[in-house]
Amino acid sequence: MRYFPYDEIRPEQDRLIAAVTSTLKTKQSLVVHAPTGLGKTAATLAPAIAHALEHDTIVFFLTGRHTQHAIALETIKAIRAKHAVDIPVIDLIGKQHFCLQPLTTRLQSREFIEYCRAMKQDRQCEFFERLKKGDEVSAVARTLVKELAAKGPLTTQEVKLASEQARLCPYEIALLLAKQAKVIITDYQYLFNPHIREAFLGKLGRSLEDCILIVDEAHNLPERVKDLGSARLSSVLIGRAVAEATKYHHEELASKLAALGEELGKLGLFTDDRGLPIDGDAEKYVLREEWLARVARVAPVDELIAWCARAGDSIREEQRSSAVGRIGEFLEAWRGEDQGYTRILSRERGRDAPVLTLSYRCLDASVITHHVFNECHSAVLMSGTLTPPKMYASLLGVEEPNLLVLESPFPPENRLNIIIPKTSTKFTQRSDAMWREIAGILRKIVLAVPGNVAVFFPSYAILEQVQQHLDQGLPKTVLAEQRGMTRDEKEAFLNKFRAYARTGAVLFAVITGNYGEGVDLPGDELKGVVVVGLPLSKPDLETQALIKYFDEKFRKGWEYGYTIPAFNKTLQSAGRCIRSSTDKGVVVFLDERYEWPRYYKLFPKEWRMKSTLLFENMIKDFFRQ
Ligand code: SF4
Repeated sequence: MRYFPYDEIRPEQDRLIAAVTSTLKTKQSLVVHAPTGLGKTAATLAPAIAHALEHDTIVFFLTGRHTQHAIALETIKAIRAKHAVDIPVIDLIGKQHFCLQPLTTRLQSREFIEYCRAMKQDRQCEFFERLKKGDEVSAVARTLVKELAAKGPLTTQEVKLASEQARLCPYEIALLLAKQAKVIITDYQYLFNPHIREAFLGKLGRSLEDCILIVDEAHNLPERVKDLGSARLSSVLIGRAVAEATKYHHEELASKLAALGEELGKLGLFTDDRGLPIDGDAEKYVLREEWLARVARVAPVDELIAWCARAGDSIREEQRSSAVGRIGEFLEAWRGEDQGYTRILSRERGRDAPVLTLSYRCLDASVITHHVFNECHSAVLMSGTLTPPKMYASLLGVEEPNLLVLESPFPPENRLNIIIPKTSTKFTQRSDAMWREIAGILRKIVLAVPGNVAVFFPSYAILEQVQQHLDQGLPKTVLAEQRGMTRDEKEAFLNKFRAYARTGAVLFAVITGNYGEGVDLPGDELKGVVVVGLPLSKPDLETQALIKYFDEKFRKGWEYGYTIPAFNKTLQSAGRCIRSSTDKGVVVFLDERYEWPRYYKLFPKEWRMKSTLLFENMIKDFFRQ
């Protein structure tokens, strides 16, 4: 394989390279389940780069997290070194992370876009001003771009630092480098946020047809895109907007927004079948026209949106972010399509008073991604938990995809996979007795595993309940993940756990929390993982709408909208255990439902699941071998 960065190509890598090569040739897309350790970054980048260097195309390596950029960058460095080939590459993060203006990280992303636009328009940003001389790129910017391009692949931090030293906007410098690049390593939003994509590709002078997309960790893409396409308006935001409009002397608008809050309050009167008021948490579907009619009682909808936008712009000049501006954005979003979306009003307990939230929620990521995947040159969607690949192709609207399931490269005998078909975190079975029973089983597992064990729970609430019964009398330290940890706290917490590798500790974490995916604990840093229960979504109106929608679209509402996404999250957590071919460890799924056919069939066949209640001896024997 031309441009493969290493001497040896493993058999499963070879299959992946062949699949990517033929996909590129036929301009199709490939959806591939590629387990951890297979070397999928090299096996996809090498053929994609070979194609891009021979044709007028560029490769986008798209990730959901900045931490994933490093491996792509290292792989390209290795390709350049081994084949002595120049591959212009840029590592691009969101504009907000590049920005040199103070305090901008505190802004919401839409607010930041407005802020940056206003700064440039009003010629207030010195870093942008120094970039241009008339309509041309300034000499100082041209020199910096030339220097950085000559240095070869650079991290975003290196580009940011060099730009800061030259007093130039790092994002604009990165864009100039991107124009020359054959590979762009960046975040999903650059191609899946329609507004950003159009502007970004326009600046590069490219269209989607020129782009080969490699989507890493693609199991995360449906949820990420759905979040991008959703919008929310709460009574708290309206209250803030009224105060803000008053403060900045938009009194008339303030009174209109107060009236909007009253309309939301009237819409939020929940009654039962007999018309009697309901107290406490509640939710209901709302029709598009129902809310627009209420908005129209306050002011013509178009006028109110434009009014909020104008006032929001002027407020942002004073304080960078604007609740008034966000209300205008929500109203604009609310006028969007019904197909693939749901509209829900919910009432939840707040600190001082109940909070009403109106949500325009995207149910179907394909309404946004279908266009991208079917207009681009080719796409490769890959992940270690992309099963069944057909489901992900359907959820993302990939037409006529090639599908591939690869096997783990790690020796199966290094891993013991157990189901303990006891206990349940099902809502109807939650009780103190259940938490005590789970804690009792965990205690036995933790003692049987010689070293560090990570236990993943469906929620913080369940974690806390079980922990109360477990940590007394356990001869291993228990470290429990907390809600709302900062990035530094997360890293310090993980390092503390790693330090127990010799004596053994227990990490309590949440499946969808900070450590459920994207964390590497190789070798002795982790000898066992226990997944407690299933992280099924709350059976709320959004979940019900999702199941109904996928039932109508695919006849697979429960699987696509409920069970498989939850199950795949547990596989991600389980994947923390074995990170290399020499790692040895045990993975336990603790819940009676894992034996049910609808879940059991979802385990990868190569895992050779063993269902047992005699797990202690099985674990001890496994580690003795
Ligand atoms: S032009 Fe660059 S430095 Fe200036 S506000 Fe925008 S992103 Fe920040």
